Amino acid sequence: MPQQTSRHTRRLQRVLTALLTRDPHQRIRLTMTGMAALLMLCSIAVMQLVTAPDTTRFVWVQWWSLVCCIGLVMVYALIRSGYSQRWRDPAMTLFQIISSITCTAVAYVIAGPARDIVLPIIAVILVFGSFGLTRRQMLSVMLYGLTVFALAVAAVHWWPGAGAQSPRMSAATMIMVFVVMACSTLLNMRISAAREKLRLQKLSVERERDLAMRDALTGLPNRRYMQDIMVREAGRVQRSERDEPPLLIAQLDLDHFKTINDSHGHAAGDEVLCVFAERVSACIRSGDVLARWGGEEFVLLMTQATMEDGAGALERLRAEIAGTPLLLSNGVAVGLTVSIGAAQLQRGESVAKWLHRADMALYAAKTGGRNQVVWFGPRQTHEALPLG
Ligand code: GH3
Ligand code: MG
Ligand code: MG
Repeated sequence: MPQQTSRHTRRLQRVLTALLTRDPHQRIRLTMTGMAALLMLCSIAVMQLVTAPDTTRFVWVQWWSLVCCIGLVMVYALIRSGYSQRWRDPAMTLFQIISSITCTAVAYVIAGPARDIVLPIIAVILVFGSFGLTRRQMLSVMLYGLTVFALAVAAVHWWPGAGAQSPRMSAATMIMVFVVMACSTLLNMRISAAREKLRLQKLSVERERDLAMRDALTGLPNRRYMQDIMVREAGRVQRSERDEPPLLIAQLDLDHFKTINDSHGHAAGDEVLCVFAERVSACIRSGDVLARWGGEEFVLLMTQATMEDGAGALERLRAEIAGTPLLLSNGVAVGLTVSIGAAQLQRGESVAKWLHRADMALYAAKTGGRNQVVWFGPRQTHEALPLG
């Protein structure tokens, strides 16, 4: 039984994919078009029902039904084939609403005494349209609808074949068409305002989230965000059964940064921090993450490097910073060096302990004379530090 159910589900899914494609945007467009088509098919059925055979009106209704069906098939084909995606409105919403209003106005003329059923249909079409149209489009639709219905009412009045209608009924129809149009335009405006409010809220949430994760001066990930990344990466490596590449961190501390502030000013110091962040970012690999840890300290996480690669990369980084003075926007060149303490994550080690070892290595780099890289651990490539 469950097997049979899953076979039915699979078959249903195949049919749905054939009709609506797999693309979620196309699915929404085609589903909305399908609902509009259903409404139109109901209207066609009602028109067939209310027109007596063997009358001139009956012939008109047959032609009207045929044109409506051809229109439906064409719209479906244009959307389903993806052709409509070349246009600004791939769902063809405006086109569908304009043609539905036109068809309804023609139906109003040829439906004879049963023409009053057209009004509820126009209401449904416009409520549908309110969701998919912009405010300007909706106003144009309102103007267009009023114009075609004024023409339809005039046609009924002047064309004897349409069946007589009193001027009072014509006036009542125009009033009702106006009421329906005005209400759906108001609804559209309410929906547009709510949408705009939601969009702004989403933007501000995204901006706040970004601000909470980034350092305002350099734009790099901040300490809190970096800690999250480190915990996530360390957890991934610790849990992994496979032989993952080691995780390396390096703490980078600018040497004698206070002197730069003192001799060039705090603003120049800020600029040095930004230029330093840019230069280091340009040197590291795409999988590595550089964060501002605080003040003139940075942390670099290397996720895909062997110890030898990591040591080589940090040494090149140190030499690059020391070898080329940083050029500030006022034309002043500032000589800068950086001390680096690095450590590889050990099996079962916590992030706090790992960071602490990198910090001790940095301390050793500072006391050892600055402008150097020191590794903490059993497999250091530079000056050794005891584990513990
Ligand atoms: P060391 O080689 O021992 O690291 O010496 P240092 O002068 O770099 O270190 P110290 O900790 O004595 O001074 C750090 C200075 O960094 C002091 C502080 O005013 C400055 N600083 C911290 N944050 C900022 C910042 O955002 N902008 C600027 N311009 N300076 C900052
Ligand atoms: Mg410092
Ligand atoms: Mg410093």
